[in-house]
Amino acid sequence: MTLTTNSPEETRAFGKEMAGRLRRGSVLAFSGDLGAGKTCLIQGICEGLAVAGPVSSPTFIIANEYAGRLGDGQEVPVFHLDLYRIERQADLDGLGWEEYLYGDGICLVEWADRAPHIFPKDVFKVRIEVAGESERSITVTE
Ligand code: ADP
Ligand code: MG
Repeated sequence: MTLTTNSPEETRAFGKEMAGRLRRGSVLAFSGDLGAGKTCLIQGICEGLAVAGPVSSPTFIIANEYAGRLGDGQEVPVFHLDLYRIERQADLDGLGWEEYLYGDGICLVEWADRAPHIFPKDVFKVRIEVAGESERSITVTE
């Protein structure tokens, strides 16, 4: 599905809605240019998962972990990864991505196209394109 949002608030609201469809072990692979709105959408998803505290791109440390909650109130770890700085296979060594991508948490990965081969088969792909100053086209495929 593809939809267009016209403000960061709309993008966050869509993220909040998406959160309701996530389960333990859900993996979302985000792609789109710098400033497209990947982090913005993830902020909305995290809001929907009742994550307290700030959500920002973990560009320099690769992974953030937040405490989230599913719709039924159960706690779920939320992993927020940013692969922007991954340039070669060796950059993936020792990051512990296996635990994030194949574990029991919800895993949200920015710049997923930096390492497409590490993702499970069952993944939501979320592509964000800049369509105007505050217009973003968001495509989600399963
Ligand atoms: P990314 O993580 O993809 O690099 P960010 O989410 O950090 O992008 O930044 C997106 C930027 O685009 C923010 O400055 C935000 O205010 C702006 N923006 C403008 N319109 C939108 C929109 N419709 N959805 C999301 N962000 C938008
Ligand atoms: Mg970002």
